[in-house]
Amino acid sequence: MTTQQPVALVTGASSGIGKEVALRLVDAGYQVVGTSRDASKLTGSDGLTFVDLDVSSDASVAAAVEHVLGQFGRLDVLVNNAGIGSAGAAEELTVAQDQKVIDVNVLGVVRMMKAVLPHMRARGRGRIVNVSSIAGLVPQPHMATYVASKHALEGYSESVDHEVREHGVRVVLVEPGPTSTSFDGAMVRPAVLLPAYAQQRQTFAEVMADSIKDGDDPVTVAKVIVAAVMDTKPKLRYPAGVTAGRVSVLRRFAPARVFDKQIRKINRLAG
Ligand code: NDP
Repeated sequence: MTTQQPVALVTGASSGIGKEVALRLVDAGYQVVGTSRDASKLTGSDGLTFVDLDVSSDASVAAAVEHVLGQFGRLDVLVNNAGIGSAGAAEELTVAQDQKVIDVNVLGVVRMMKAVLPHMRARGRGRIVNVSSIAGLVPQPHMATYVASKHALEGYSESVDHEVREHGVRVVLVEPGPTSTSFDGAMVRPAVLLPAYAQQRQTFAEVMADSIKDGDDPVTVAKVIVAAVMDTKPKLRYPAGVTAGRVSVLRRFAPARVFDKQIRKINRLAG
């Protein structure tokens, strides 16, 4: 049986931005399936149900998408929101830790897109919103692996968008700036700290604390994601929040040397 209501799948809907997106999509008239690695701890409501999903597992991704299609017979929207951060100097993280971040933030999205695209393409319609970050546009010392993952997501999304557009499917990016969620607490962090980076680490912690303190409300970001879901003329990129708007303009228009200097100044690095 196919439901008459449009159906949206939101990954990482247990907290932060994803939770707010799920609630707002219900308000916008969608039947929403939110995900968590432990959906049993969550309570649904009218128009909102939850399913288990670990985006780093092929089997889990296949099962979650099959569940949605089995239950509702259609999938109109996928919001790839699940993600984890990384903190620490590049040298301090192990390759296994780097792989974990890439596996969730990049390959997690890749798995989800491969799972839903055959269905969307067959229906000749669909919208995929990938939650990137301003870290997908600019460097951030002491978050190199996270930055790499979001830069990869930017390139992947924009490329696939060109492949699927003629099949009625669009892939768009939302780029939040610092947002007040529990993201900071779920970051991959080094087990062994190198004294050579002690000063930078201290500064980075302060810069991060300031930016999270002044960060956007997840509701602000969620509203931009819902706009990206519903736009009749979708844009490739949607910066979300005050900082994101400024940074994306700076990235586009500032000369390389000015931009480089600004990054060092913000991160209180010498020279
Ligand atoms: P939260 O930590 O609040 O939410 C992250 C979500 O991802 C959780 O619901 C978690 O669900 C889910 N998740 C984590 N690992 C996995 C996994 N392996 N499989 C499936 N789900 C997983 O952070 P935010 O709301 O802030 O982050 C949401 C997105 O926004 C991320 O992609 C992040 O990169 C991006 N972003 C965040 C910014 C910020 O400053 N907060 C800034 C820019 C972008 P559960 O634990 O229940 O499985």
